[in-house]
Amino acid sequence: MFDYLVVGCGLSGTTCARLLAEKGKQVLIIDKRDHLAGNTYDSYDEHGILVHNYGPHVFHTVYKDVWDFLSRFTGWRDYEHRVLAYVRGKLVPMPINVDTVNTLYGTGYDESSIAGFYESVREKDIEIKNARDMVVSKIGQELYELFFRGYTLKQWDIDPQDLDSEVTARIPVRYNRDDRYFTDPYQGMPENGYTAMVEKMLDHPNISILLNTDFKAVRDRVEYARLIFTGPIDYFFDYRFGRLPYRSLWFQFETHEMEYYQPAGTVNYPNDYDFTRITEFKHLTGQQSTVTTIMKEYPASQGEPYYPIPRKENRDLYNQYAQEAARLNHVWFTGRLGKYKYANMDIVVKDAMDLVTCLE
Ligand SMILES: Cc1cc2nc3c(=O)[nH]c(=O)nc-3n(C[C@H](O)[C@H](O)[C@H](O)COP(=O)(O)OP(=O)(O)OC[C@H]3O[C@@H](n4cnc5c(N)ncnc54)[C@H](O)[C@@H]3O)c2cc1C
Repeated sequence: MFDYLVVGCGLSGTTCARLLAEKGKQVLIIDKRDHLAGNTYDSYDEHGILVHNYGPHVFHTVYKDVWDFLSRFTGWRDYEHRVLAYVRGKLVPMPINVDTVNTLYGTGYDESSIAGFYESVREKDIEIKNARDMVVSKIGQELYELFFRGYTLKQWDIDPQDLDSEVTARIPVRYNRDDRYFTDPYQGMPENGYTAMVEKMLDHPNISILLNTDFKAVRDRVEYARLIFTGPIDYFFDYRFGRLPYRSLWFQFETHEMEYYQPAGTVNYPNDYDFTRITEFKHLTGQQSTVTTIMKEYPASQGEPYYPIPRKENRDLYNQYAQEAARLNHVWFTGRLGKYKYANMDIVVKDAMDLVTCLE
């Protein structure tokens, strides 16, 4: 008899399992996939390059307790992610900063004069009703068209005018030359990768692991007192109110006979090609090799559930499931699939830490 069954070996489930085990609980953690680490899974490809199989993952957080917790299981490679956007034939820093504007327009703004530029182009007195309004209220129509409209259309297959303003609410527009993608105080890459970190998190005498195991295949065969479910909440309830929609992705990996393919970890393509971005893993991992592997990301309507689609009707549907969940005893839902909410890695770890604090 296990005290807890934890469904999902991603960072949510793994954090719960580890902290419960440290409280003396006997934990069984399962995953339907054949590997640990959920969407942070990384592995060496046939050319010996460490790649992120489900898309590039860069760790960053403002939460010291999250950083300290994960640091028990990994050292960190000092890495600050940089992203360029390919616009009008040029590679420019993303988020938009002083250098982005100057490179694009041939201007000479500096940190003291750039505010005047943004002020001159932004749409004023606009009532913000959707994702497009949010962007043009900050940087105006042209930069919106160049950097956001095409990217958002590719990413969601929805015009920004039909998406919640929250999708673009946090687009940072910089008044300086800071070209780091994230500005959190704690940033880095696990020195041996995410999978190695997760293996260490689950290395505890109170934790048993079963891979290739779907929840519904074992729920009546395994004895457990309590359940933490980090899979899709609509699946748990047999889709009784309908399916929660997700945007999916497919990834094309290419290995090139060169040391580096591009000058930064990620290059966004808001207006050209069908893919949204190219990531070159060696920038992230610091691996040395004479060859390099890149990943092109293509948004898709079918496939693995990656991004909850941020629209009101979907949140309403999720709330129906959340109400069902609240009626259950000894069952908790967490993680990006359990809560139907996009969340960065640090947030799912933080949520899991908070959840376990409340559990006996
Ligand atoms: C393309 C992409 C890039 C990202 N980049 C970053 C980044 O740079 N930085 C960052 O902080 N965050 C990033 N994220 C977010 C990050 O992936 C998530 O925060 C994190 O993976 C969520 O962990 P989780 O455990 O909640 O979910 P998951 O990692 O998805 O784990 C859930 C697990 O549950 C398993 N499961 C589902 N259903 C069942 C079932 N019925 N039975 C058994 N097992 C089941 C799944 O197989 C999966 O392994 C990115 C996300 C995407 C999509």
